[in-house]
Amino acid sequence: MKVTILGSGTILSDIKRNPSGYVLEHDNKSALLDCGPGILHQLDKLKMNVCDLDCLFISHFHLDHCSDVFALLMRRYLSDPVSNETFKIFGPTGLNEWYMKIAGTQGAWLNDRQPKMIEFSSQVIYWHELEISVCRNGHTENSISYLLKDGNKKFFYSSDTDFNTDIIAFAAYSDIAVLECSYPDENPKPGHLTPSKLAKIVDLAAIKKTIVTHIYPENDTKDLIQRIKTLSMSDIEIGFDFMQIDLEG
Ligand SMILES: [Zn+2]
Ligand SMILES: [Zn+2]
Repeated sequence: MKVTILGSGTILSDIKRNPSGYVLEHDNKSALLDCGPGILHQLDKLKMNVCDLDCLFISHFHLDHCSDVFALLMRRYLSDPVSNETFKIFGPTGLNEWYMKIAGTQGAWLNDRQPKMIEFSSQVIYWHELEISVCRNGHTENSISYLLKDGNKKFFYSSDTDFNTDIIAFAAYSDIAVLECSYPDENPKPGHLTPSKLAKIVDLAAIKKTIVTHIYPENDTKDLIQRIKTLSMSDIEIGFDFMQIDLEG
């Protein structure tokens, strides 16, 4: 499996860091993980055709993670009118209600050709032999973190989260983890990680390699990696847009 970061930033970041989105590629198939503002243009820069995407996984309904979902559906419809009928959108509890509210404002282009919406509860799903499971992380009422297993290799995506013991157990021994690190320790905000909270998760979960994303500008300083490395001896790197992450299955 290969993961490409489309957005390592937040809604306040400058153009170097787009808000959240990731491309997953496995077995010549591709999917999106979150779809924040600007993700369509990030896909353009990779010369990826949105109609080639199989499905989309959403972590939560904050707009920096899902504002481009309907723009994506519209582009798919205009490129190939039947393409949404085979498209699947997975997400947390509340996905159907969220979708129906917005779809109700769109009319026939969408309502006559709907994607399939699938809410995660506790089930494990399979996407081309990748095993995908989720864990509620408490960032919002229903927000979820994702764990993808390719053979015996594990990839964890925290999305937005505060420190909590559930995700430590869930992410334990991941080969690669993409963890948010929104704010500096001097100015922590509830629902998000700081370098010290991130380091604690990495060490307690014994994560083999960590990529840091979802970095707000006030935390996005040249010394961010040093601030993290004084707190953890683990293998940790700062993520960037279009970074490619390979997980050998
Ligand atoms: Zn959020
Ligand atoms: Zn966010």
